[in-house]
Amino acid sequence: GMGMAFMQGKIVKGIAGFYYVHVVESGIYECKAKGIFRKEKIKPLVGDDVVIDVLDEEEKLGNITEVRKRTNELIRPAVANIDQVLVVFAVTDPKPHHNLLDRFLIMMESKDIPVFLCFNKKDIATKPEIKELQAIYRSCDYPVIFTSAKEDENIEEVRRILRGKTTAVAGPSGVGKSSIINILQPEANMETGEISRKIARGKHTTRHSELILIEESTYIMDTPGFSSLYANDFEKEELKFYFREFAEYEGRCRFQGCDHIHEPGCAVKAALEEGKIHPVRYKSYTEMYEELKEKKRY
Ligand code: GDP
Ligand code: ZN
Repeated sequence: GMGMAFMQGKIVKGIAGFYYVHVVESGIYECKAKGIFRKEKIKPLVGDDVVIDVLDEEEKLGNITEVRKRTNELIRPAVANIDQVLVVFAVTDPKPHHNLLDRFLIMMESKDIPVFLCFNKKDIATKPEIKELQAIYRSCDYPVIFTSAKEDENIEEVRRILRGKTTAVAGPSGVGKSSIINILQPEANMETGEISRKIARGKHTTRHSELILIEESTYIMDTPGFSSLYANDFEKEELKFYFREFAEYEGRCRFQGCDHIHEPGCAVKAALEEGKIHPVRYKSYTEMYEELKEKKRY
């Protein structure tokens, strides 16, 4: 086209055919994706690393000319190149819904996306509640952090986990996600300010996925009201491979291809009896297995 310069950036938001591309040290460009659909047959996603042709530096307008190869892609929310997911639940009020929590873990396991578990509202939790959660999620080796957004406890630890990465924040409503994000979000950040100025807030009724820049090269994805993480559908026979604590028992069951449900001589069930596999996790497994059997989609 008639562009003046090519730059590399990241799509932080997409609304009605416009893509907002963040270019480090240069700001946010409002872009179209003319030609990309036809040429590469792909629809740009929030999180995409792209090349833009700057059409107007003054007005910060551009055209996306290339979408870089994605490392991964989620369906719900529609987002690309997520480095990790911060799964937020409350220790209490509301108590964690383990089936929902394990679904997040399994979806991300199937996509090979690392997860950090954050249990918020530590300030109103009892010691036994915390110990129980530690026992469940240490048994499957997920990193767990306990925070209080109310008392600003361990939020700096969360910041350290996020640093230099693009992180999707997932969890049900009411657990404190917005409160945590508010602490993490810099008040006087020029670039985040610029994002909000460029994207006239309130103009659109539907809320879209959006990447928020919280510090250099550090983005979090805030999707208000989003409680489900959906990656892809898989067969019930695959499910067991995404429960990482089952791995060491794989191949040790009496029957080849054991699904660890009702089969005799099952090594996973034996480990459950011995307390090596946590009953809360095993319960999630059987529930999900039954649902997949009925071909319900998550
Ligand atoms: P979200 O729906 O996950 O974004 O949750 P919010 O950030 O809106 O918080 C839901 C409610 O929990 C609000 O009333 C918050 O004040 C409260 N809340 C958030 N974090 C904490 C916390 O660490 N401790 C306590 N006691 N309450 C919290
Ligand atoms: Zn088995």
